[in-house]
Amino acid sequence: MVIKKTQLDEIAFLRTQENQTFRPVAPELEKILYQPFEILDHGFVRVVDYMGNDDSVVQAARVSYGAGTKKISADKGLINYLMAHYHTTPFEMCEIKFHIKLPIFVARQWIRHRTASVNEYSARYSIMEDEFYIPRPEHLAAQSKINHQGRDEGGILSHEEQKRVLEILKKDSSLAYDHYLEMISQDGQDGLARELARMNLPLNCYTQWYWKIDLHNLLHFLHLRADSHAQYEIRVYAEVVLDIVKKWVPHCFEAFVKNRQTGKSLSGAALEVIRKMLKGEKVTQKDSGLSIREWEELEKIFNLKS
Ligand SMILES: Cc1cc2nc3c(=O)[nH]c(=O)nc-3n(C[C@H](O)[C@H](O)[C@H](O)COP(=O)(O)OP(=O)(O)OC[C@H]3O[C@@H](n4cnc5c(N)ncnc54)[C@H](O)[C@@H]3O)c2cc1C
Repeated sequence: MVIKKTQLDEIAFLRTQENQTFRPVAPELEKILYQPFEILDHGFVRVVDYMGNDDSVVQAARVSYGAGTKKISADKGLINYLMAHYHTTPFEMCEIKFHIKLPIFVARQWIRHRTASVNEYSARYSIMEDEFYIPRPEHLAAQSKINHQGRDEGGILSHEEQKRVLEILKKDSSLAYDHYLEMISQDGQDGLARELARMNLPLNCYTQWYWKIDLHNLLHFLHLRADSHAQYEIRVYAEVVLDIVKKWVPHCFEAFVKNRQTGKSLSGAALEVIRKMLKGEKVTQKDSGLSIREWEELEKIFNLKS
């Protein structure tokens, strides 16, 4: 179990404490408030607080005194218009706060998103837990020959190679943790300071943080990290967060999927290729002005090969 029983009891207790409020709420999000969603082997994401809902975006866009909402169809249309035309500030009126547990190498990618407020578990103050990310065998793929930045999703290692890699990962994690404990406690006496002993722990060790971000910047994060180009280990977190966004602000979620996730922006040269093709002209990569990579992306978007 990722979450200890005492922690689950604390969460269950919080869910007995109902509050009344005049503030806008999101009923579907209320249902899952505080509850952890398990990710990878020891990780989780849970919502600890939020501000605003779909109506808050509409209110801000109309700078209204009251509820500011019109018919649902008009509100949905307005949200879609704002999203489509990058009128972003109304989306900044909604905020959400998560508690996330994730491997340090995933945290290093995550922290590059500078527009959030973060407070991380202190490994200077607390003792790190004996928890290390060990991938499932089906995620042990070889380096991609096309995308130099990632794995070849189809190139899963052979059974023998998987076994060897998993043994190395488990052995090294366990050895590093034993040494960590040995360094912080010398024969029962205080040993090396935790802030120093932690430097020997590997990047697959888990950390935790509170992460607060507004809806606009959260959608930017999700656009990049719930995408197929993102590494699997951060993508699985982004996919859970995306599902939470759907519960929180369903109209904003719909506009995001329509305009960002399933919509594409094209370069001028790519548009020119499509214009020529629509006129029935034959265009090849060489005379398109596009690089091989851009050309392949275009082929993929418009299914040009078939
Ligand atoms: C698939 C993928 C591969 C990547 N590979 C690498 C890599 O190899 N090496 C690497 O170092 N990084 C890599 N990154 C990280 C990437 O370069 C960004 O740092 C990261 O995605 C955060 O994006 P961001 O700056 O737009 O987000 P945020 O930090 O959340 O910023 C949001 C927006 O705010 C604005 N902003 C924020 N801070 C500033 C600022 N100081 N100055 C100006 N504008 C600002 C920008 O408009 C920015 O887009 C990769 C990311 C992805 C998704």
